[in-house]
Amino acid sequence: MMEEEIEYLIVGQGIAGTMLSHFLLRQNKKIKVIDLFHPNSSSNIAAGVVNPVTGRRMAKSWMIDELLPFAKQVYRELEKELKVSFLFEQPIYRIFSSEDDKKIWDKKKQDAEYFEYLGDWLPQTDDHIESPYGIGIIKNAMWMDVPVLIRAFREKLLQENLLLEDSFDYERLEMDENGFRYGHLRAKYLVFCEGYKAIYNPFFSSIPFTTAKGEHLVVQSEQLSTGRIYNRNTYILPKSPGRYTLGSTFVWDDLSETVSEESRKELLAKWHKMTSADAIIVEEKAGIRPTMKDRRPVVGRHTKWPHMFILNGMGTKGVSLSPYFSWQLIQYIQSGNPLPEEVNPDRFV
Ligand SMILES: Cc1cc2nc3c(=O)[nH]c(=O)nc-3n(C[C@H](O)[C@H](O)[C@H](O)COP(=O)(O)OP(=O)(O)OC[C@H]3O[C@@H](n4cnc5c(N)ncnc54)[C@H](O)[C@@H]3O)c2cc1C
Repeated sequence: MMEEEIEYLIVGQGIAGTMLSHFLLRQNKKIKVIDLFHPNSSSNIAAGVVNPVTGRRMAKSWMIDELLPFAKQVYRELEKELKVSFLFEQPIYRIFSSEDDKKIWDKKKQDAEYFEYLGDWLPQTDDHIESPYGIGIIKNAMWMDVPVLIRAFREKLLQENLLLEDSFDYERLEMDENGFRYGHLRAKYLVFCEGYKAIYNPFFSSIPFTTAKGEHLVVQSEQLSTGRIYNRNTYILPKSPGRYTLGSTFVWDDLSETVSEESRKELLAKWHKMTSADAIIVEEKAGIRPTMKDRRPVVGRHTKWPHMFILNGMGTKGVSLSPYFSWQLIQYIQSGNPLPEEVNPDRFV
């Protein structure tokens, strides 16, 4: 096969690799993506919720003021370009667990930092929703049908002959000071976006990924009829009339991609804390999140090979983090714009 010169070789087409490819194509860069489709990749399993205010203390997510508007704009552009809908802006109804929750809400609501995110609270909403302490409305939230984006973008890459549907073989990579050779490809830059499978990447083996398996159920309910997203330690995400995604769990250091009996019970118990409605499990899904101990992505350059980069560690927040950090990485590669120290791949040594 004739040698093909490209500028960027990208390994992985989850949401990270997709966003990076999107920006590079918009710049008319010559790219090639290598990805072996995996139905249980984190991006294909993700519930896709972006909740700007999380945890018991109802704290704003890291950098959310910057991440959210950027992500929304980019996803809306991509929806137009790919002619598919995958982004749904809607509030999250946070079911309070105690009187304390309500007090925290009322206090934070007075804080200008939270004006954009915390709305009113209601004593109750839909039939069958259990809310003895009330429900706070989180504004500026959204959910994204990530698999729809991944599929549509994959289709585009295939049509333009930019995707190699194959497993990347690290041993076949050759490098010199000008870049890389991989089979018939000659690339100036190489960016790894492999999700949790980066644990098998020998070039970044010093990065301590802590894999977090996530599981969710798709349940059918005769009694619960709502279009609202509910949250109380877990999410009820309406998908179609009477059908909901319920999740997700956190299981550390388990690389199996099936839902355990224990998790099934845990999720159903959480369902019954939120609602008195019936639920029948119709589907189960599990995938592995690429998570870091400090809950920050890993974005940057290899210490020894200056043309080699990593874009990973999106953890539980791939939807909000991937657009912004893909773009930041491109700015870093092309213009030397510094990346935040918090995402430095060398921070662990
Ligand atoms: C149950 C669950 C629920 C979640 N819910 C949410 C949520 O509500 N909101 C949110 O923002 N995030 C959520 N996430 C997290 C989100 O899914 C991740 O942050 C994000 O998908 C990570 O994307 P990625 O592109 O880094 O990795 P991945 O999605 O894992 O993609 C990596 C790709 O690289 C490919 N690959 C890897 N190695 C190779 C190789 N050697 N050769 C070829 N191809 C390779 C893989 O096959 C895959 O296609 C959830 C995750 C799970 C599991």
